[in-house]
Order: sequence, then C-alpha cells, then structure tokens
Amino acid sequence: MPPTGPALELERLGVRYGATVALADVDLRVEAGEIVALVGPSGCGKSSLLRAVAGLVPAAGDVRAAGRALHELPAHRRGVGVVFQDHALFPHLDVAGNVAFGLVEARASAAVRRARTDAWLTRVGLADRAGDDVDRLSGGERQRVALARTLAPQPPLVLLDEPFASLDPGLRTRLSLEVAGWLRELGSAALFVTHDLDEALAIADRIAVLREGRLVQVAAPHELMARPTDPWTARFVGHENVWEGAEAARLPGAPAAALLLAERARWRAAGGAQADGTAATCVAASPVRDGWRLELEVPTWGARVAWLARPRELLGGCAPRPGTAGILEAPDEAWRRWGDGG
Ligand code: ADP
Repeated sequence: MPPTGPALELERLGVRYGATVALADVDLRVEAGEIVALVGPSGCGKSSLLRAVAGLVPAAGDVRAAGRALHELPAHRRGVGVVFQDHALFPHLDVAGNVAFGLVEARASAAVRRARTDAWLTRVGLADRAGDDVDRLSGGERQRVALARTLAPQPPLVLLDEPFASLDPGLRTRLSLEVAGWLRELGSAALFVTHDLDEALAIADRIAVLREGRLVQVAAPHELMARPTDPWTARFVGHENVWEGAEAARLPGAPAAALLLAERARWRAAGGAQADGTAATCVAASPVRDGWRLELEVPTWGARVAWLARPRELLGGCAPRPGTAGILEAPDEAWRRWGDGG
C-alpha cells in the first residue's frame, strides 16, 4: 500500500481522566518512515498520548494515519503496531506461535506466515528457540519476541511505550539501535516513548518534548540540543548553564534568560599570549568519561559555568587545580538568549 500522507497526524489531541487533564491540544505529525521519540518528565502525558493513538483511552481531537481517520475506529481496527514495556506474550503459544500471531491476524497466507516468522526469529536471534515455551525466556528475549510479533506484519506505524525500560543498560542500548535498524528496513514510522534522552538522541529523527500535557518543542536531535525553545526545555535536555531573571540580567546582553552552550565555548589557563575573553577561575574539577568537568567562576557575570574539558584541550592532559586562573571565550554562537536584550 503506497503511503498517502503522513504516517500519523494529530490535531488538538486531548485526554482527560475525570478532572485531570493529561493531554491538551497536541498537534503532531509523524512522516512516513520517520522515528519520533516522545520525552518529558514522569506524568507529563506520554503514555496517554500513545494510548489515545492506539485507541485505548477516549480522546478529543483528530487522529489520522496515512489519510485514514482513526479516532472513530476501535483499537483492533486501527492497524497500528503496539509494543509496551511489559508486553504480555501468549503463554499458550510457543515462541514461533507468538511471532506468527500478528501475521495470522493480518490474514497472511500460510507460506508467507512461515517465511516471515522464520526471518523474524533469525533477525531477533531466537531461531533456535522457535519451539520453546515463552515462560522459559529471559526478559530481553521476551521483549524481542514481542517486537518481532509486532513488526512481522510490517505495520506502517508502530507505537512503542518504553519498550526497553526493563532491560539492563547494555542490552537496552543494543536492542534500541537494532529496533531502529529494523524500522528503517521496513520503512515503518514509529512514535516511541522513552525517559532516556540519550536513547531518543541516538535513534530518533525528531524528538517531541511534552510538559504537563502540552508539546513544547518538536525538533531534530541536534536542533533540540542547540536551540531548546525555552529555559525549561534547555534544563530538561541536560544543559547546566541556564540562567533566568536577575542572574541572566548580569550576563552579556542582559537577556531575560540565557543558555551558554558549553561545547561552543573555550577555557584556557591564563598566561602567555594576550587572550580575548572573560576572566574565569577553575573552582572545581571532577573526572567524567571523556575528560573533566570543570566549574568555572566568572566574576563579571556573577555566575558559575560548567565546562567539559577533553584531555587534549588542557596543558599536559591534566585537570587544572582549583584556583587556576583562566580565560573563557564565549562567542555569540555559544549563546542562546531569550527575551529582553536577546
Ligand atoms: P507519563 O506517561 O508521561 O508518565 P501519563 O500519560 O501516564 O504520563 O499520565 C499523565 C497524567 O494523567 C498524570 O497526571 C497521571 O497521574 C494521569 N493519569 C494517567 N492515567 C490515569 C488514569 N487511568 N486515571 C487517572 N489519571 C491518570
């Protein structure tokens, strides 16, 4: 079936539970074949959004998929693949039976069913477990069966709700990258919920940030990191150097709020050639994976800046001792400013 329009289009989607508004006025498009991650703090409405698309909770607004209006259809007629965190497998079916289940529902012929089931068992690394009871599988293996069962019918749209959350970190990273590869192979679009921003950055084409039931930003990973829409989003995606109000007013340009993208700034110990920048003293240095995290005190800004230094950027590759004076260069492209003076 050739794709007709976006894989998913939400207009003014709203979900409420009694007096609780879980989701309000959400507009979102997922293009055919696109992987969109849905992130946000706990309770911001991520699961409610997915459940509304799947038809598992009543929702206001419009849900369209490939040109079809879904909101009037019951869950089983929406043609959307769904994988949840603790996806229940069918205990009375063996591993192959579980994978084949979706193909039976999709009315695939027996030959197609066998071929696809075999192909998926191989793909998820369970070809030699085809006849096993599912209760003999590990958590990671069960999740692979659930993914194979959902993806085998090649749904144009897949919804994944924290599908890797119960797995160990190593396994989790590997499986999430594999799943992204399978989705791209199939050309399936996906909307997946994760509380792990690194996972979202690694596999999503775009990331949608939800806050208290409203979408605050939808952007490609590098865009979200470099141009968060407001100070809240900047902090949510992990930026440390965010200032607002009186703190921001002391910064260059006196903005209402500001973000310093530390990776676009440079700090070096003072001395030698005349340096062009702002005096900044290292007040703390702690080891991190790729070098050191320095805390720099900048007296003219009345602020502290967190800065990640790779060993090659520092003299002798060593962390500077607290008290080391230096110069911080923060060119215009290192700043994101909001409001007055911006
Ligand atoms: P997230 O997935 O981002 O953690 P949810 O969609 O689960 O958020 O929840 C959004 C809001 O709706 C929260 O305030 C939550 O307490 C509330 N909520 C979720 N499910 C129900 C429910 N079945 N009944 C009542 N309130 C609910």
